[in-house]
Amino acid sequence: MINKEMPLLMDQSKKGRKAIKLPELGVEKSELPNSKFLRKDISLPEVGQLDLIRYFTNLSSLNYSIDTNFYPLGSCTMKYNPKINEQIASMPGFAASHPNQNDEKVQGNLRLMFELQEELGEITGLPGVSLAPLAGAQGEYAGLLIAREYHKKNNQNNRNIALIPDSAHGTNPASASMAGLQAVTIKTTNEGDIDLDDLKDKVNENVCVLMLTLPSTLGLFEPNILEITKVIHDNGGLVYADGANLNALLGVTKFGDLGIDICHSNLHKTFSTPHGGGGPGSGPVMVAKYLESFLPYPHIKKEGNEYKQYKPENTVGRLNGFYGSFGILVRAYAYIRSLGKAGLKEISESAIINANYIQEKLKNDYKLTSSRYCMHETVLSASQQKEDGVKAIDIAKKLLDEGFHAPTMYFPLIVDEALMIEPTESESKETIDRFIDAMIMISELSKSNPKEIIDAPVNLPVERLDEAQAARNPVLIWAKK
Ligand SMILES: *Cc1c(COP(=O)(O)O)cnc(C)c1O
Repeated sequence: MINKEMPLLMDQSKKGRKAIKLPELGVEKSELPNSKFLRKDISLPEVGQLDLIRYFTNLSSLNYSIDTNFYPLGSCTMKYNPKINEQIASMPGFAASHPNQNDEKVQGNLRLMFELQEELGEITGLPGVSLAPLAGAQGEYAGLLIAREYHKKNNQNNRNIALIPDSAHGTNPASASMAGLQAVTIKTTNEGDIDLDDLKDKVNENVCVLMLTLPSTLGLFEPNILEITKVIHDNGGLVYADGANLNALLGVTKFGDLGIDICHSNLHKTFSTPHGGGGPGSGPVMVAKYLESFLPYPHIKKEGNEYKQYKPENTVGRLNGFYGSFGILVRAYAYIRSLGKAGLKEISESAIINANYIQEKLKNDYKLTSSRYCMHETVLSASQQKEDGVKAIDIAKKLLDEGFHAPTMYFPLIVDEALMIEPTESESKETIDRFIDAMIMISELSKSNPKEIIDAPVNLPVERLDEAQAARNPVLIWAKK
């Protein structure tokens, strides 16, 4: 257990104490060249080696991760990341290659990228793939630029509207705006599907693209998807699917078969790279064959036995300096190749069963958003608990005390007191049962002793924070008390 009172390293400092003893200097001392840049007002902590080691070892154990415990963060797929993928990504041929090396010198790396393009094209049914985007949001941006350029090329510059359901991830309207499009909201029905009447009302000759999430952010498969894509196509628009989380579709269905023209997927959600903490990501963009020439570059192609970077004819341009997040591409490649077709399908089947198991076990304690089977995640509402003064955020804090990461809260925005739970395929039944028990315990406690939930967490190094202040005015510099 962490010592809550662990003093900060600066506060442990005692003049003259050292963690290491340096050997005598064997050369002449010289002045630092730019002493004007040295700041006198910041002193470094002076501590012994053992104190130093304990400090950082204790700090490192404050990190919560998928390697330490259950992480049911909906819409963000925190799943088991096979350790072998890390080893493979750190092999010198991958990790130590320089992005400026000529294509002939990095044939193996280009081959890996080419084959990953092929795999993602096959998985999504959209064969034109660019691995360049560095995040899901950048994949969206690239995909929307492709849609715009396509219309421009067809002399339809007027098409500047992106239809986006009100349940969408916040990045969707933001990316649309960055791509110069105007976001127009489409309503969701009480059943959690796209409101077809509203869609038909709003589709017109100025629509560039409909941007939807499938399964929706309510964790539901859109039953009218074929009709929806037809309505848009009949009006000359394109359909974009936000496939950040493919954990319900792998090997089960393909965007390309549903009338979708463009999508992106987050390798740092679905394809094993863990995320959070702002680490590197990768959000490849996939398009139907007829849009391939618009892909961002570099794109990798194979000529004879040679792999080459090239610039597609109508490319929307470059998204970043080099190839994208290469290390993440290696992990995704290893993941997909080691699982194969059957293994990928098993992921989705298990992810869907696990989410439905949780939904079924919790439906008497929490209000469900929909009575239908869910896909890879379930969205519950704490609206009943709110009547006793316990909100979604309180439940999330209490879960921290019980040793679980909080689910996603207050998203999608259209669900009152939303708790979005995604167990993923990689958790055991025992772990999921412990989580269910904790959720039921909290629901019962909300009736008998709500204060205990509202006061949580009490077992963690810090208790309730003023989250608005912590985000707006973070104190990042040590100051003497
Ligand atoms: C995570 C996510 C995104 C954005 O991905 P980033 O890599 O964070 O930019 C977009 N849409 C959905 C549905 C997501 O879950």
